[in-house]
Amino acid sequence: MTKTSYKVILADLDGTVNRGEELIPGVEAVYGDLHDRGIKWLFLSNNAAMSATELALKLRRLGINVSEHQVINSASALIHTVERNYIGKRFIVVGESSLVEAIEHARGTISDDPASVDIVVVALDRTLTYEKLKRAHIAVQKGALLWATNLDATFPVEGCFHPGAGSIVAAITTAAGRPPDRVFGKPYPDMALLALEMLDISASSCLVVGDRMETDILFARNAGMASALVLTGATSRSDVAKYSYAPGHVIESIADIAELFD
Ligand SMILES: [Mg+2]
Repeated sequence: MTKTSYKVILADLDGTVNRGEELIPGVEAVYGDLHDRGIKWLFLSNNAAMSATELALKLRRLGINVSEHQVINSASALIHTVERNYIGKRFIVVGESSLVEAIEHARGTISDDPASVDIVVVALDRTLTYEKLKRAHIAVQKGALLWATNLDATFPVEGCFHPGAGSIVAAITTAAGRPPDRVFGKPYPDMALLALEMLDISASSCLVVGDRMETDILFARNAGMASALVLTGATSRSDVAKYSYAPGHVIESIADIAELFD
């Protein structure tokens, strides 16, 4: 593949496009430049604590003029799966109200009774209680499927990290003694499949840009897409050699991504 054949950029958010409430310097300009040259952008985040619509609003507030159709998160991929194949199934959700409402909107049935549940959904939940963990665990013991939005151990906030969805999933998988049946966030391929369907393009036209080897770069590899690692987030240049797979490109910042296009 030549570098000019990328038609779509699938960009991670935290550590790649923004750090918390600040954009990576130069990202607005390169977004506008490539957009004007006919390159499509989608933003792919594992963050399921905000809806895709809320993430698009945040990007607009920070200065990137995106539509809500340009943002996919791990919750979008899960919701899409519910409305396609699991309408009417009964769900227990360890997650926040926006995710509960989205599953209801996708015509899943929310239940509090662990004895009669088909699927346990686990996501970042800043209202987590022992009662919620207990109900989820009972449902899994009684045979419910276990789905996780994503397995990120932490997420970045100003100056430090807070426990992420993966830390909550770990409580339930530790109790259950088995891994989740399905995970929707990167590096698993659901968001890639949703992106390809939304844009009606092939994986070989896509360039994934992100700051984490074990989510973004592995995601690209799993989906058969090209990848570019940026050094503005979780990974330094010397970290790359520690992995058994490598990004197609390493660039200092997403602001430099135009180098990969003629
Ligand atoms: Mg990131």
